[in-house]
Amino acid sequence: MMNKLVANAEKQHRALKLRIYPNPEQTILINKTFGCCRQIYNNRLFERNEFYQNVIKNESDKNKQKELWKKAHFSTEKEMKAKFPYMTEVSAQALCSATMFAEIAYKNFFSSIKGNRAGAKVGKPKFKSKKSNDFSYRECNPSEKALNWNERKVKVPKLGEVKFRHSGNKKGKLDFFLRGEVELKSITIRKNPANEYYAVLLSEREYCHKKKIYEGDESQAIGLDFSPADFYIDSDGSSGKDFGYVAQKQANLKKLTKLQRRLMRKQISSNNREKARVKVARMEHYIAECRNDWIEKETKRLVSSYQVIGIEDLNLKGMMKFSRNAKNYGDASWGNFTNKLLWKASLNENNCQIVKADRFFASSQICHCCGFKNPITKNLNIRSWTCPECGAEHIRDVNAAINLKMNAIKNVGQGVSEFRSVEGVEDLATLALQIGASEEAENLTGDGQNVLTL
Ligand SMILES: [Zn+2]
Repeated sequence: MMNKLVANAEKQHRALKLRIYPNPEQTILINKTFGCCRQIYNNRLFERNEFYQNVIKNESDKNKQKELWKKAHFSTEKEMKAKFPYMTEVSAQALCSATMFAEIAYKNFFSSIKGNRAGAKVGKPKFKSKKSNDFSYRECNPSEKALNWNERKVKVPKLGEVKFRHSGNKKGKLDFFLRGEVELKSITIRKNPANEYYAVLLSEREYCHKKKIYEGDESQAIGLDFSPADFYIDSDGSSGKDFGYVAQKQANLKKLTKLQRRLMRKQISSNNREKARVKVARMEHYIAECRNDWIEKETKRLVSSYQVIGIEDLNLKGMMKFSRNAKNYGDASWGNFTNKLLWKASLNENNCQIVKADRFFASSQICHCCGFKNPITKNLNIRSWTCPECGAEHIRDVNAAINLKMNAIKNVGQGVSEFRSVEGVEDLATLALQIGASEEAENLTGDGQNVLTL
């Protein structure tokens, strides 16, 4: 029997992250831009706070408050440049984005208070610190031909051509960039705590979902139950470890603690302390990269081997607060894994759909043979149990995974993977950026034109 196709067009964003090697002049300019952007951002926060304290607070009528907000004037980039002439040296676009980020941060904060925003609560915007060791700025109007792949150069406004390195594996998203099928939207320049520089190219294209409808073949479905130690247990009884998962933080714990201890012994604000800090940051970066690499490969394997994948919607932040096993929970980065899974499943080349179980779906309490709900399994220490109804013997995690698989088969959608249910992710651009570059996620939105309206 032929499979039906379901089509659904929408804009799709893809990010390409490149390690760049700016020359000394470019490095200076990049760092100046970080500084100016931080100043613009902080100034906007300061002015808003002042305006709130001095004007808004004295007005009790909500409608009048709204009007006051609308009439409020805050320093523009032009005025800031007049005040601080050194700002003319850096890219105007970057300064503009910094203001935008401040406004978006406020917008997210207000809509979070009002309950209009999905996901975790967003706090009041905070001032950016010079000492955070993690900086970025964004160029919103890069040239269409910014990427020169053959010479390994990327053209960034104001900076000119910057060298980058890439192993050159021309598969997947890189292909889109090279064939010029995408529209380049922005370039984010970033410096991480290990003093490495990156350029993240964000692109957009029209995208049409074409998915075959799943026709109930059970061997094409799988359920994944989160496990802190093995990453996941699947409905066939295998675990993430069987597919090469290593808890990187645990494996490198000795080296990491050694470096951290050395750092603690160094005198505060000395050169040697800075050197030791970079060493710790590099180690942490290495651990994160190993973990990411495995997640990339594993999600790829899963979406290309199965048509339906059932996962659970976990409240990991909540679990980390209460668990003694918190280190392992964070180490596993389940959220990152599910985001990538959703993302890859949405692509046409992978005929796969992800079904997230409801947060209150009691996957580990239900017997998958007869459906009996066994309350004693609420106790996390019970690793295996026998069903009092039908007598089936269960290993806790495998039973949960089977339940997730069954739930997925039952609820699988109309052939288009559900995409927006990721916690805390409001639009595709944010998701793309989280995947390409996890920085400043809460401050980013896709269109870049949002201005606060209260
Ligand atoms: Zn049973």
